[in-house]
Amino acid sequence: MQTRVEIADFENWRAVAEDAAKVLKGGELVALPTETVYGLGADAFNADAVAKVFEAKGRPSFDPLIVHIAGIRDLQRVAVVSGELEVVVRQLAKAFWPGPLTMVLPKHEDVPDLVTSGLPTVAVRVSKHEVMRLLTKELGPIAAPSANRFGRISPTSASAVLAELEGRIPLIVDGGASSNGLESTIIAVEVGEKRPVLRLLRPGPVTREELQKFGKVPRAGRVTDDRPEAPGSLDSHYAPEIPVLLHDSPEEFEPEDGKRYALLSYRGEARDGYLDRHDWVRVEVLSPGKGKLAEAAVRFFHSLRNLDAEGIDAIVAEPVSDVGLGSAIMDRLRRAAFR
Ligand code: AMP
Ligand code: MG
Repeated sequence: MQTRVEIADFENWRAVAEDAAKVLKGGELVALPTETVYGLGADAFNADAVAKVFEAKGRPSFDPLIVHIAGIRDLQRVAVVSGELEVVVRQLAKAFWPGPLTMVLPKHEDVPDLVTSGLPTVAVRVSKHEVMRLLTKELGPIAAPSANRFGRISPTSASAVLAELEGRIPLIVDGGASSNGLESTIIAVEVGEKRPVLRLLRPGPVTREELQKFGKVPRAGRVTDDRPEAPGSLDSHYAPEIPVLLHDSPEEFEPEDGKRYALLSYRGEARDGYLDRHDWVRVEVLSPGKGKLAEAAVRFFHSLRNLDAEGIDAIVAEPVSDVGLGSAIMDRLRRAAFR
């Protein structure tokens, strides 16, 4: 299969969205830009199209997809939400949609079981990217997990999608680099006894601290089930092809003779201790100088992908602070390092 790449810019958003809508209506897949990472989209109500998502990604069928809708008005088409639950969901939607928050809610029977891997719940989000906004308006709900092969690094640019899925899908819409750079925060929303309970299934750009205003956010326990509740929470995920060594302190790194290493550094500053530790083949800096977590998030998957292509023996990663958005980055780093 030939993979076309169409560039969507301010002049032609609409034309590109129309073309993508045609492909999606025909039951085929389109890789689409969102503010988090690129998604691999299929018509959410077309089970045959959804099956192609699993095939193109090499994704196991127990790993459910996120459904994108145009706005809260479309929520009842994919989820069953009423009473107190509806109150909380509306508050969250008002605060965070469109944006990088995915809510796991009771599923509408019209959503094919394949989308949710047979779960009684569906993960829903509203993207703020113009292309996704136009498409969901025109077409309705779109199922779209990240546009990478299963377990691999999430793509934050059209070229990264091409590297992952060239020849496997007909169309990639190039809408520029993803502005958040990390996958959405996923929460399961429940009514709770006194206050709503927001179970954090995947940390992301919407932080625990921001969510706490809307309900209790229990500290996530380890998912021990062999069928993970949020399969982005599989221990090994976001993995480059070469090993990632995550060292909490620079002294922990002991290079092996004859091996070549690259450094994934947070600030790229000597005082952090990693930079002078070794003669690195290459150093990728997530947030030069100041150490800003938002900047590090945007560059994270891109930098990891660059280092993965370097032909080295291992990537040594410096930790970032494990608070706010840093927790989302550390979550990805730990999974990238898990073997
Ligand atoms: P991706 O966009 O590739 O990160 O994949 C979507 C992720 O959403 C999955 O890996 C799951 O972690 C999560 N997800 C989707 N549906 C559900 C659901 N019903 N319950 C819990 N997590 C879900
Ligand atoms: Mg993914």
